[in-house]
Amino acid sequence: MSSNPPKPEESLALYVQRLRNHLGLSQQELATKAGLHVQSIGKLERGHTRGLKRKTQQGLAYALGVPESYLAAACKGITVEETEDALKICPHCWKPGHPPEQHWLDRRAKYCFLCGESLRNSCESCNAVITSLKHRFCPYCGTAYRSGSKE
Ligand SMILES: [Zn+2]
Ligand SMILES: [Zn+2]
Repeated sequence: MSSNPPKPEESLALYVQRLRNHLGLSQQELATKAGLHVQSIGKLERGHTRGLKRKTQQGLAYALGVPESYLAAACKGITVEETEDALKICPHCWKPGHPPEQHWLDRRAKYCFLCGESLRNSCESCNAVITSLKHRFCPYCGTAYRSGSKE
Protein backbone atom coordinates (compact mmCIF):
# COMPACT_ATOMS: atom_id res chain seq x y z
CA MET A 1 0.00 0.00 0.00
CA SER A 2 1.53 3.30 -1.06
CA SER A 3 1.35 6.05 1.50
CA ASN A 4 -0.46 8.89 -0.16
CA PRO A 5 -2.12 11.08 2.45
CA PRO A 6 -4.24 14.10 1.54
CA LYS A 7 -2.33 17.37 1.27
CA PRO A 8 -3.18 20.03 3.80
CA GLU A 9 -6.17 22.01 2.51
CA GLU A 10 -6.93 19.37 -0.10
CA SER A 11 -10.65 18.71 -0.29
CA LEU A 12 -12.07 15.21 -0.39
CA ALA A 13 -13.16 15.85 -3.98
CA LEU A 14 -9.67 16.80 -5.14
CA TYR A 15 -8.04 14.09 -3.10
CA VAL A 16 -10.15 11.30 -4.58
CA GLN A 17 -9.66 12.72 -8.05
CA ARG A 18 -5.89 12.92 -7.58
CA LEU A 19 -5.67 9.32 -6.35
CA ARG A 20 -7.89 8.09 -9.13
CA ASN A 21 -5.79 9.84 -11.78
CA HIS A 22 -2.66 8.53 -10.12
CA LEU A 23 -3.98 4.99 -10.51
CA GLY A 24 -5.13 5.72 -14.06
CA LEU A 25 -8.71 4.68 -13.34
CA SER A 26 -11.82 6.14 -14.92
CA GLN A 27 -14.71 7.10 -12.65
CA GLN A 28 -16.49 3.98 -13.85
CA GLU A 29 -13.51 1.74 -13.08
CA LEU A 30 -13.12 3.24 -9.64
CA ALA A 31 -16.83 2.83 -8.95
CA THR A 32 -16.71 -0.85 -9.95
CA LYS A 33 -13.64 -1.51 -7.84
CA ALA A 34 -15.13 0.28 -4.84
CA GLY A 35 -18.53 -1.36 -5.26
CA LEU A 36 -20.25 2.00 -5.72
CA HIS A 37 -22.42 3.71 -8.30
CA VAL A 38 -20.55 5.79 -10.83
CA GLN A 39 -22.92 8.65 -9.97
CA SER A 40 -21.64 8.58 -6.40
CA ILE A 41 -18.07 9.02 -7.61
CA GLY A 42 -19.12 11.87 -9.91
CA LYS A 43 -20.99 13.59 -7.10
CA LEU A 44 -18.05 13.13 -4.78
CA GLU A 45 -15.51 14.58 -7.21
CA ARG A 46 -17.74 17.57 -7.87
CA GLY A 47 -17.55 18.27 -4.16
CA HIS A 48 -21.20 17.45 -3.50
CA THR A 49 -20.47 14.84 -0.87
CA ARG A 50 -19.80 16.04 2.66
CA GLY A 51 -19.66 13.04 4.92
CA LEU A 52 -18.78 9.58 3.68
CA LYS A 53 -20.92 6.65 4.62
CA ARG A 54 -18.95 3.83 6.16
CA LYS A 55 -19.52 1.53 3.22
CA THR A 56 -18.49 4.22 0.77
CA GLN A 57 -15.39 5.03 2.77
CA GLN A 58 -14.38 1.38 3.03
CA GLY A 59 -14.95 0.77 -0.66
CA LEU A 60 -13.05 3.85 -1.70
CA ALA A 61 -10.17 3.19 0.66
CA TYR A 62 -9.84 -0.29 -0.79
CA ALA A 63 -10.11 0.84 -4.40
CA LEU A 64 -7.71 3.75 -3.97
CA GLY A 65 -5.24 1.81 -1.84
CA VAL A 66 -5.20 4.23 1.09
CA PRO A 67 -6.20 3.80 4.73
CA GLU A 68 -9.73 4.86 5.62
CA SER A 69 -8.33 7.42 8.03
CA TYR A 70 -6.87 9.34 5.06
CA LEU A 71 -10.29 9.68 3.49
CA ALA A 72 -11.81 10.62 6.82
CA ALA A 73 -9.15 13.30 7.27
CA ALA A 74 -9.75 14.74 3.78
CA CYS A 75 -13.45 14.70 4.56
CA LYS A 76 -13.01 16.76 7.69
CA GLY A 77 -10.39 19.01 6.14
CA ILE A 78 -7.75 18.10 8.68
CA THR A 79 -4.34 16.55 8.25
CA VAL A 80 -3.73 12.88 8.89
CA GLU A 81 -1.62 13.52 12.01
CA GLU A 82 -4.52 15.41 13.50
CA THR A 83 -6.91 12.54 12.98
CA GLU A 84 -4.53 10.15 14.66
CA ASP A 85 -4.44 11.96 17.96
CA ALA A 86 -7.95 13.33 17.67
CA LEU A 87 -9.66 9.96 17.68
CA LYS A 88 -11.48 10.20 20.98
CA ILE A 89 -14.67 8.66 22.21
CA CYS A 90 -16.96 8.88 25.17
CA PRO A 91 -16.96 5.39 26.69
CA HIS A 92 -20.62 5.83 27.59
CA CYS A 93 -22.16 7.43 24.53
CA TRP A 94 -20.14 5.93 21.71
CA LYS A 95 -21.94 3.07 20.00
CA PRO A 96 -19.69 0.42 18.49
CA GLY A 97 -19.93 0.49 14.72
CA HIS A 98 -20.85 4.17 14.68
CA PRO A 99 -18.54 7.05 13.86
CA PRO A 100 -17.55 9.22 16.82
CA GLU A 101 -19.41 12.48 17.43
CA GLN A 102 -17.76 15.53 15.87
CA HIS A 103 -17.63 17.27 19.27
CA TRP A 104 -15.46 14.54 20.74
CA LEU A 105 -12.93 14.94 17.96
CA ASP A 106 -12.33 18.58 18.68
CA ARG A 107 -8.71 18.78 19.73
CA ARG A 108 -9.64 20.88 22.77
CA ALA A 109 -12.44 18.61 23.92
CA LYS A 110 -11.71 16.69 27.11
CA TYR A 111 -15.20 15.80 28.27
CA CYS A 112 -18.26 14.41 26.56
CA PHE A 113 -20.72 17.16 25.62
CA LEU A 114 -23.58 14.73 26.23
CA CYS A 115 -22.80 13.22 29.60
CA GLY A 116 -19.69 14.94 30.97
CA GLU A 117 -17.59 11.77 31.07
CA SER A 118 -13.86 12.13 30.34
CA LEU A 119 -13.17 11.36 26.72
CA ARG A 120 -10.83 8.51 26.01
CA ASN A 121 -8.28 8.21 23.23
CA SER A 122 -6.66 5.06 24.50
CA CYS A 123 -7.58 1.74 26.02
CA GLU A 124 -8.46 2.08 29.72
CA SER A 125 -6.72 -1.14 30.51
CA CYS A 126 -3.45 -1.16 28.54
CA ASN A 127 -3.31 2.45 27.31
CA ALA A 128 -2.88 1.50 23.66
CA VAL A 129 -4.04 4.43 21.55
CA ILE A 130 -7.36 3.90 19.77
CA THR A 131 -6.46 4.01 16.09
CA SER A 132 -9.58 2.56 14.57
CA LEU A 133 -13.20 2.42 15.59
CA LYS A 134 -13.76 -0.52 13.30
CA HIS A 135 -13.04 -2.59 16.36
CA ARG A 136 -15.14 -2.45 19.45
CA PHE A 137 -12.46 -4.06 21.58
CA CYS A 138 -8.84 -3.09 22.13
CA PRO A 139 -6.82 -5.29 19.72
CA TYR A 140 -4.04 -5.62 22.31
CA CYS A 141 -5.84 -6.66 25.46
CA GLY A 142 -9.44 -7.29 24.43
CA THR A 143 -10.98 -4.69 26.72
CA ALA A 144 -14.20 -3.19 25.32
CA TYR A 145 -13.78 0.49 24.41
CA ARG A 146 -17.31 1.17 25.50
CA SER A 147 -17.61 0.74 29.24
CA GLY A 148 -20.55 -1.17 30.61
CA SER A 149 -21.05 -2.71 27.18
CA LYS A 150 -23.09 -5.88 27.22
CA GLU A 151 -22.49 -6.61 23.54
ZN1 LIG B 1 -20.92 10.74 26.93
ZN1 LIG C 1 -6.07 -2.57 25.73
